[in-house]
Amino acid sequence: MKPAIKVQLTENLKFLKLAAISCNLEPCMRQARESGLDFSEFLLNITDMEVASRMENGRKRRLRQARFPLLKPIETFDFDAAKDLDFQMIKQLLTGQYIKDVYNIIFLGKSGTGKTHLATALGMEACRIGKKTLFTTACGLANELVEAREEKTLSRILKRYVACDLLIIDELGYVPFSKEAAQLLFQVMAERHERKSMIITSNMGFGDWTSIFGDATLTGALLDRVTHKAHIINCNWESYRFKEALKKRKRK
Ligand code: ADP
Ligand code: MG
Repeated sequence: MKPAIKVQLTENLKFLKLAAISCNLEPCMRQARESGLDFSEFLLNITDMEVASRMENGRKRRLRQARFPLLKPIETFDFDAAKDLDFQMIKQLLTGQYIKDVYNIIFLGKSGTGKTHLATALGMEACRIGKKTLFTTACGLANELVEAREEKTLSRILKRYVACDLLIIDELGYVPFSKEAAQLLFQVMAERHERKSMIITSNMGFGDWTSIFGDATLTGALLDRVTHKAHIINCNWESYRFKEALKKRKRK
Protein backbone atom coordinates (compact mmCIF):
# COMPACT_ATOMS: atom_id res chain seq x y z
CA MET A 1 0.00 0.00 0.00
CA LYS A 2 1.35 3.44 -0.93
CA PRO A 3 2.13 5.50 2.19
CA ALA A 4 -0.13 8.41 1.12
CA ILE A 5 -3.04 6.03 0.54
CA LYS A 6 -2.46 4.33 3.85
CA VAL A 7 -2.64 7.69 5.68
CA GLN A 8 -5.87 8.71 3.94
CA LEU A 9 -7.43 5.28 4.35
CA THR A 10 -6.64 5.21 8.07
CA GLU A 11 -8.23 8.63 8.43
CA ASN A 12 -11.35 7.57 6.53
CA LEU A 13 -11.76 4.42 8.62
CA LYS A 14 -11.37 6.48 11.77
CA PHE A 15 -13.93 9.01 10.55
CA LEU A 16 -16.36 6.18 9.77
CA LYS A 17 -15.60 4.60 13.18
CA LEU A 18 -14.61 1.28 11.59
CA ALA A 19 -12.13 0.39 14.31
CA ALA A 20 -11.91 -3.36 13.72
CA ILE A 21 -11.23 -2.90 10.01
CA SER A 22 -8.73 -0.18 10.73
CA CYS A 23 -6.76 -2.38 13.15
CA ASN A 24 -6.70 -5.42 10.89
CA LEU A 25 -6.59 -3.99 7.41
CA GLU A 26 -3.06 -4.94 6.44
CA PRO A 27 -3.17 -8.59 7.57
CA CYS A 28 -6.59 -8.91 5.90
CA MET A 29 -5.25 -7.50 2.64
CA ARG A 30 -2.27 -9.84 2.77
CA GLN A 31 -4.51 -12.81 3.42
CA ALA A 32 -6.88 -11.82 0.62
CA ARG A 33 -3.96 -11.58 -1.78
CA GLU A 34 -2.58 -14.96 -0.72
CA SER A 35 -5.95 -16.73 -0.97
CA GLY A 36 -6.83 -14.99 -4.24
CA LEU A 37 -10.06 -13.44 -2.93
CA ASP A 38 -11.93 -11.11 -5.25
CA PHE A 39 -13.06 -7.63 -4.17
CA SER A 40 -16.52 -8.68 -3.06
CA GLU A 41 -15.16 -11.52 -0.92
CA PHE A 42 -12.61 -9.21 0.62
CA LEU A 43 -15.26 -6.59 1.37
CA LEU A 44 -17.53 -9.21 2.89
CA ASN A 45 -14.70 -10.47 5.12
CA ILE A 46 -13.74 -7.10 6.50
CA THR A 47 -17.34 -5.97 7.05
CA ASP A 48 -18.09 -9.33 8.78
CA MET A 49 -15.14 -8.63 11.03
CA GLU A 50 -16.46 -5.16 11.89
CA VAL A 51 -19.96 -6.50 12.58
CA ALA A 52 -18.61 -9.28 14.83
CA SER A 53 -16.48 -6.82 16.75
CA ARG A 54 -19.40 -4.42 17.26
CA MET A 55 -21.65 -7.25 18.45
CA GLU A 56 -19.03 -8.42 20.91
CA ASN A 57 -18.47 -4.90 22.24
CA GLY A 58 -22.22 -4.44 22.57
CA ARG A 59 -22.56 -7.71 24.43
CA LYS A 60 -19.81 -6.72 26.87
CA ARG A 61 -21.36 -3.28 27.38
CA ARG A 62 -24.81 -4.75 28.03
CA LEU A 63 -23.33 -7.28 30.47
CA ARG A 64 -21.68 -4.43 32.39
CA GLN A 65 -24.82 -2.31 32.37
CA ALA A 66 -27.02 -5.22 33.49
CA ARG A 67 -25.21 -5.24 36.86
CA PHE A 68 -25.30 -8.96 37.48
CA PRO A 69 -23.98 -9.74 40.97
CA LEU A 70 -22.03 -12.69 39.53
CA LEU A 71 -21.67 -13.82 35.93
CA LYS A 72 -23.14 -17.31 35.85
CA PRO A 73 -23.55 -18.55 32.28
CA ILE A 74 -25.78 -21.50 31.49
CA GLU A 75 -22.71 -23.64 30.72
CA THR A 76 -21.95 -23.72 34.45
CA PHE A 77 -25.43 -24.95 35.37
CA ASP A 78 -25.62 -28.64 36.17
CA PHE A 79 -28.99 -29.86 34.90
CA ASP A 80 -28.58 -33.24 36.60
CA ALA A 81 -28.63 -31.44 39.93
CA ALA A 82 -31.95 -29.79 39.12
CA LYS A 83 -34.28 -32.75 39.05
CA ASP A 84 -37.61 -32.07 37.29
CA LEU A 85 -36.31 -28.94 35.55
CA ASP A 86 -37.55 -29.06 31.97
CA PHE A 87 -34.30 -28.87 30.01
CA GLN A 88 -36.09 -28.33 26.69
CA MET A 89 -38.05 -25.46 28.19
CA ILE A 90 -34.86 -23.74 29.42
CA LYS A 91 -33.25 -24.31 26.04
CA GLN A 92 -36.21 -22.65 24.37
CA LEU A 93 -36.12 -19.75 26.85
CA LEU A 94 -32.40 -19.24 26.14
CA THR A 95 -33.29 -18.28 22.56
CA GLY A 96 -34.93 -15.15 23.98
CA GLN A 97 -38.18 -15.67 22.08
CA TYR A 98 -40.11 -14.95 25.31
CA ILE A 99 -38.75 -11.38 25.21
CA LYS A 100 -40.14 -10.88 21.72
CA ASP A 101 -43.45 -12.43 22.82
CA VAL A 102 -43.43 -10.30 26.00
CA TYR A 103 -43.70 -13.24 28.36
CA ASN A 104 -42.43 -13.20 31.92
CA ILE A 105 -40.53 -16.00 33.61
CA ILE A 106 -41.17 -16.71 37.25
CA PHE A 107 -38.94 -19.04 39.24
CA LEU A 108 -40.49 -20.22 42.48
CA GLY A 109 -38.79 -22.41 45.06
CA LYS A 110 -36.73 -22.61 48.15
CA SER A 111 -33.28 -21.16 48.65
CA GLY A 112 -30.28 -22.73 46.93
CA THR A 113 -32.15 -24.37 44.04
CA GLY A 114 -30.44 -22.25 41.38
CA LYS A 115 -33.11 -19.62 40.72
CA THR A 116 -30.64 -16.73 40.71
CA HIS A 117 -28.22 -18.78 38.63
CA LEU A 118 -30.87 -19.53 35.99
CA ALA A 119 -32.15 -15.95 35.97
CA THR A 120 -28.59 -14.70 35.49
CA ALA A 121 -27.87 -17.20 32.73
CA LEU A 122 -31.04 -16.15 30.88
CA GLY A 123 -30.13 -12.50 31.37
CA MET A 124 -26.64 -13.08 29.98
CA GLU A 125 -28.15 -14.68 26.89
CA ALA A 126 -30.48 -11.72 26.52
CA CYS A 127 -27.44 -9.41 26.57
CA ARG A 128 -25.84 -11.55 23.89
CA ILE A 129 -28.80 -11.22 21.55
CA GLY A 130 -28.87 -7.45 21.96
CA LYS A 131 -31.49 -6.99 24.66
CA LYS A 132 -30.97 -4.26 27.22
CA THR A 133 -31.13 -6.06 30.54
CA LEU A 134 -31.17 -4.97 34.18
CA PHE A 135 -30.66 -7.21 37.19
CA THR A 136 -31.82 -6.10 40.60
CA THR A 137 -33.09 -7.60 43.82
CA ALA A 138 -36.66 -6.81 44.85
CA CYS A 139 -35.36 -5.18 48.01
CA GLY A 140 -32.71 -3.15 46.15
CA LEU A 141 -35.25 -1.97 43.60
CA ALA A 142 -37.76 -1.01 46.29
CA ASN A 143 -35.12 1.00 48.16
CA GLU A 144 -33.95 2.70 45.01
CA LEU A 145 -37.49 3.73 44.09
CA VAL A 146 -38.29 5.05 47.56
CA GLU A 147 -35.03 7.02 47.64
CA ALA A 148 -35.66 8.34 44.14
CA ARG A 149 -39.05 9.65 45.21
CA GLU A 150 -37.47 11.43 48.18
CA GLU A 151 -34.82 12.93 45.92
CA LYS A 152 -37.39 13.87 43.26
CA THR A 153 -35.72 11.69 40.63
CA LEU A 154 -38.48 9.07 40.55
CA SER A 155 -39.58 9.63 36.97
CA ARG A 156 -36.03 9.15 35.67
CA ILE A 157 -35.46 5.98 37.73
CA LEU A 158 -38.88 4.60 36.82
CA LYS A 159 -38.13 5.16 33.16
CA ARG A 160 -34.91 3.15 33.48
CA TYR A 161 -36.69 0.17 35.03
CA VAL A 162 -39.67 0.36 32.73
CA ALA A 163 -37.79 0.88 29.48
CA CYS A 164 -35.21 -1.94 29.51
CA ASP A 165 -36.02 -5.00 27.39
CA LEU A 166 -35.63 -7.42 30.28
CA LEU A 167 -35.88 -6.66 33.99
CA ILE A 168 -34.74 -9.34 36.40
CA ILE A 169 -36.14 -8.98 39.90
CA ASP A 170 -34.41 -11.43 42.19
CA GLU A 171 -35.36 -12.57 45.68
CA LEU A 172 -38.90 -11.37 45.95
CA GLY A 173 -40.18 -12.39 49.36
CA TYR A 174 -37.19 -12.34 51.65
CA VAL A 175 -38.11 -8.91 53.00
CA PRO A 176 -41.67 -7.56 53.19
CA PHE A 177 -42.18 -4.06 51.75
CA SER A 178 -43.48 -0.85 53.24
CA LYS A 179 -46.73 0.38 51.75
CA GLU A 180 -44.90 2.98 49.67
CA ALA A 181 -42.33 0.48 48.37
CA ALA A 182 -45.08 -2.01 47.48
CA GLN A 183 -46.92 0.65 45.49
CA LEU A 184 -43.79 1.72 43.62
CA LEU A 185 -42.88 -1.87 42.76
CA PHE A 186 -46.42 -2.39 41.57
CA GLN A 187 -46.05 0.65 39.35
CA VAL A 188 -42.91 -0.74 37.69
CA MET A 189 -44.47 -4.16 37.15
CA ALA A 190 -47.79 -2.75 35.95
CA GLU A 191 -46.11 -0.41 33.48
CA ARG A 192 -44.08 -3.28 32.05
CA HIS A 193 -47.17 -5.43 31.69
CA GLU A 194 -47.68 -6.46 28.05
CA ARG A 195 -44.83 -4.19 26.99
CA LYS A 196 -41.62 -5.71 28.33
CA SER A 197 -40.54 -8.98 29.90
CA MET A 198 -39.49 -9.69 33.46
CA ILE A 199 -37.82 -12.56 35.21
CA ILE A 200 -38.85 -12.81 38.84
CA THR A 201 -37.48 -15.22 41.43
CA SER A 202 -39.17 -15.87 44.73
CA ASN A 203 -38.86 -18.28 47.61
CA MET A 204 -42.60 -17.89 48.22
CA GLY A 205 -45.54 -19.39 46.40
CA PHE A 206 -48.10 -16.99 44.89
CA GLY A 207 -50.45 -17.68 47.78
CA ASP A 208 -48.01 -16.01 50.15
CA TRP A 209 -47.27 -12.93 48.06
CA THR A 210 -49.83 -10.90 50.00
CA SER A 211 -47.52 -11.08 53.00
CA ILE A 212 -44.72 -9.56 50.86
CA PHE A 213 -46.80 -6.67 49.53
CA GLY A 214 -48.98 -6.31 52.61
CA ASP A 215 -52.20 -5.66 50.70
CA ALA A 216 -54.50 -8.29 49.23
CA THR A 217 -56.03 -6.06 46.54
CA LEU A 218 -52.70 -4.79 45.28
CA THR A 219 -51.21 -8.30 45.33
CA GLY A 220 -54.20 -9.64 43.41
CA ALA A 221 -53.86 -6.95 40.76
CA LEU A 222 -50.12 -7.54 40.55
CA LEU A 223 -50.37 -11.33 40.27
CA ASP A 224 -53.02 -10.94 37.64
CA ARG A 225 -50.68 -8.91 35.47
CA VAL A 226 -47.41 -10.67 36.18
CA THR A 227 -48.76 -14.19 35.61
CA HIS A 228 -50.97 -13.27 32.65
CA LYS A 229 -48.37 -14.30 30.09
CA ALA A 230 -45.72 -16.14 32.02
CA HIS A 231 -43.63 -19.26 32.12
CA ILE A 232 -43.81 -20.41 35.73
CA ILE A 233 -41.02 -22.71 36.78
CA ASN A 234 -41.30 -24.48 40.11
CA CYS A 235 -37.92 -25.35 41.56
CA ASN A 236 -38.86 -28.06 44.00
CA TRP A 237 -35.63 -30.04 43.98
CA GLU A 238 -33.05 -30.17 46.71
CA SER A 239 -30.86 -27.14 47.41
CA TYR A 240 -27.63 -27.28 45.40
CA ARG A 241 -25.71 -25.56 48.19
CA PHE A 242 -27.02 -28.07 50.70
CA LYS A 243 -26.12 -30.98 48.45
CA GLU A 244 -22.61 -29.63 47.86
CA ALA A 245 -22.12 -29.17 51.59
CA LEU A 246 -23.24 -32.74 52.22
CA LYS A 247 -20.83 -34.04 49.57
CA LYS A 248 -17.95 -32.14 51.16
CA ARG A 249 -18.76 -33.51 54.59
CA LYS A 250 -18.90 -37.06 53.24
CA ARG A 251 -15.48 -36.63 51.60
CA LYS A 252 -14.00 -35.60 54.92
P1 ADP B 1 -31.34 -19.56 44.72
O1 ADP B 1 -31.31 -18.25 44.02
O2 ADP B 1 -32.43 -20.49 44.29
O3 ADP B 1 -31.30 -19.41 46.22
P2 ADP B 1 -28.69 -19.80 43.62
O4 ADP B 1 -28.92 -19.65 42.18
O5 ADP B 1 -28.13 -18.64 44.35
O6 ADP B 1 -30.00 -20.34 44.36
O7 ADP B 1 -27.74 -21.07 43.85
C1 ADP B 1 -26.94 -21.22 45.02
C2 ADP B 1 -25.54 -21.60 44.58
O8 ADP B 1 -25.54 -22.89 44.00
C3 ADP B 1 -24.97 -20.68 43.54
O9 ADP B 1 -23.58 -20.59 43.71
C4 ADP B 1 -25.29 -21.40 42.23
O10 ADP B 1 -24.38 -21.06 41.22
C5 ADP B 1 -25.17 -22.83 42.62
N1 ADP B 1 -26.10 -23.71 41.91
C6 ADP B 1 -27.40 -23.90 42.16
N2 ADP B 1 -27.92 -24.82 41.34
C7 ADP B 1 -26.94 -25.21 40.53
C8 ADP B 1 -26.84 -26.15 39.45
N3 ADP B 1 -27.88 -26.91 39.08
N4 ADP B 1 -25.64 -26.28 38.84
C9 ADP B 1 -24.58 -25.55 39.22
N5 ADP B 1 -24.60 -24.67 40.23
C10 ADP B 1 -25.75 -24.49 40.89
MG1 MG C 1 -31.22 -16.41 44.81
